[in-house]
Amino acid sequence: MGSNGASVVAFRTYYRSRHGGTWKTEKARQDDVGACRAKAVGNWKMEKAPREGVALALQVLQMCRGVRDVDIGFAPPFTGLDTLKPFVAADFVRQRFDMGGNVALFAQDVFYEEQGAFTGEISGKMLQDVGVDGVIIGHSDRRNRLGDFFGFGASVEKRLSPERLAFALQREQAKPEADAQVVAALRHFAQNDQADHLAGLGRFLAEDLSSRAGESDRVIHRKVDVTLKRGLLGILCFGENLEAREAGDTNRVIQQQLRGLAKLPKGLLKFLWLAYEPVWAIGTGQTASVEQIGQAHDYARDILLESFGEEVAASVPILYGGSVKPANMNEIMMTPGVDGALVGGASLKAEDFAGIVRFGLPE
Ligand code: PEP
Repeated sequence: MGSNGASVVAFRTYYRSRHGGTWKTEKARQDDVGACRAKAVGNWKMEKAPREGVALALQVLQMCRGVRDVDIGFAPPFTGLDTLKPFVAADFVRQRFDMGGNVALFAQDVFYEEQGAFTGEISGKMLQDVGVDGVIIGHSDRRNRLGDFFGFGASVEKRLSPERLAFALQREQAKPEADAQVVAALRHFAQNDQADHLAGLGRFLAEDLSSRAGESDRVIHRKVDVTLKRGLLGILCFGENLEAREAGDTNRVIQQQLRGLAKLPKGLLKFLWLAYEPVWAIGTGQTASVEQIGQAHDYARDILLESFGEEVAASVPILYGGSVKPANMNEIMMTPGVDGALVGGASLKAEDFAGIVRFGLPE
């Protein structure tokens, strides 16, 4: 509420600029050239069969009829992309729902190689062939939870037995350019009776890896690179977990997750979107405070500023994700660094997702 009791409505189209070291936004008219448009992307994760996805998207679009000032994205599982494409195509939504070219189709991941023996992976070219407009990259489900999904870590425990280490020692020593430190460590553990300590260490690492292991920043940036080079939009997700937040380590984590961007050619930045998704706020109902969101967005924008200058830093959209709902979207959008939302749970209910897209509009 404003001081006179009237509801304050966040801008749906706006200009962003930097004054006195801080980012500010200023309201723009819907058709102003160069204005930023708010965005809402629904990440359906592993939900919705292809036809269910079409039904959901059509319901959302029906509820958003005539909305042209917010970019709307749907990110179904890979299996739903091809079926959904004709229903989000610009001509279809223009004729059927009186919208502009403001609806886009996103994939939830991409592989960085173009083709080959990569069972189960999908390349950027394959996504483009089915008409995908963009890709979500580095979601925390993939950064942090693959260990749980695929059992990473279990083999570590086995490898740390003296017998396996003795075998590994022989193999390492036979290499023409053996790493002396690796050989010394293997010799130490294989030849000294430390089976109990190794077993303890093995169990610790197995548990640690299975709860943390996932895509590394190196892999994620390779994915960003191939995506932007194809001219697809890439939504790079970043954000700290609870441990890092509580240790006051948020900026360090963000810096580490985004530093690979500095290597991108400046011309590709027009295809980049970012999404700040603090892991502790995802799917928990616990939204980050507007101060926390504002600080993280400004910090990310300052990282862009350092490498690419003010024009690029002002224009790269940075979404917030983490328990966004119709009831909190307007408040989140009041934060000057925020350009929209990446939405998980609420994107699976047409009314909720449409409510998010329609933030600030009359019911
Ligand atoms: C997400 O999965 O990206 C997400 C933000 O989920 P939720 O909106 O359910 O917190």
